[in-house]
Amino acid sequence: MSETKFDLAAYMSDGIREFMAAAYRNVLSNPREARFVHQMRRVVEKSERKRREVLEKEGLAVPPFLIASIATTCNLHCKGCYARSNGIAEDDASQQKATLTPEQWRTIMAEAAELGVNFTLLAGGEPMMRRDVIEAVASVKEMIFPVFTNGTLIGPTYIDLIKRNLNIIPVISIEGTAMGTDERRGRGVFERAMLSMDMLKQEDLIFGASITVTSENMELVTSPQFIDTLREKRCRLLFYIEYVPTEKGTEHLALDDEQVARMASTVLQRRNEYSDIIFFSFPGDEKATGGCIASGRGFFHIGPDGSAEPCPFSPFSDSNVLEIGVKEALRSPLFRTLRDASILGWAHTGGCTLYEHRDEVEEIIKNKQ
Ligand code: SF4
Repeated sequence: MSETKFDLAAYMSDGIREFMAAAYRNVLSNPREARFVHQMRRVVEKSERKRREVLEKEGLAVPPFLIASIATTCNLHCKGCYARSNGIAEDDASQQKATLTPEQWRTIMAEAAELGVNFTLLAGGEPMMRRDVIEAVASVKEMIFPVFTNGTLIGPTYIDLIKRNLNIIPVISIEGTAMGTDERRGRGVFERAMLSMDMLKQEDLIFGASITVTSENMELVTSPQFIDTLREKRCRLLFYIEYVPTEKGTEHLALDDEQVARMASTVLQRRNEYSDIIFFSFPGDEKATGGCIASGRGFFHIGPDGSAEPCPFSPFSDSNVLEIGVKEALRSPLFRTLRDASILGWAHTGGCTLYEHRDEVEEIIKNKQ
């Protein structure tokens, strides 16, 4: 896999420019959001220049987005929760990872924005349990923060925070139908998530939905009937996240190669059919990106304690952004080894090659020490 042939940075920058153009078209009827998106389009262009400068001057590819797990707790106990299985979310306070302060997160995000990072997906645990952090990072106006939430904590005070900080964009996780969602996430969660969508619609605020795609719900969650229900709520972003079987005995829920290919073509078709919804598919078309985009290739993950990890599904780290900053974390021996190794292009079942090849990743780390 030679990065020179395929220019991932340009591919992702094009994707972001298209995303911003589509976002702008979708909010033209709403002056407040249109003004915000218009401003952000300029910021995105400036950030792209910054990333190009760092690449030209220092030979370092800065990814356009990051994922940050800011919370170590959650008010739900979903079946197959990856955050609980890899130790990000924990009920027992004595076992919980150390967490950063709101000011520490704000500093990290400010440095990332200065490098040209445009988006940081806030996750957890339940990120809305760290309102103090969300309020602090929202002040970094050159950055957009999609907040991947279970949607059960959105009420008047969060609506007020989002109205004052349009760069905070809730992305509400559901499993498809009420039955599917409540079966995995708990009784009444679907209804509460729909109520949150209604509140955001009422205030004409941009929001999205995130769906974990399994071999059992793929047809349903990519169907026009299902997408129409979200469109009616005025959902503007739709994230399809391929299921990663972190829980033993759930391997059958992972998409096989035929389903992955069908998913890719269906998403392409939906993109053409729904101009007012922006579709993301994760890990998406790895064939187009030359393999997995973790380890700083397209993004990397910052754990609750600041540890720099390849991806939320790959909790390995040899550096901490609080200590060395985002730029030096991108140069970490682990990230460089994984980017240079062929592992990111290895075949895998389920949404994560690093998770599937975690033994090999561990071996690489051991050999580096
Ligand atoms: S809402 Fe997210 S973090 Fe919380 S239990 Fe469910 S999957 Fe895990």
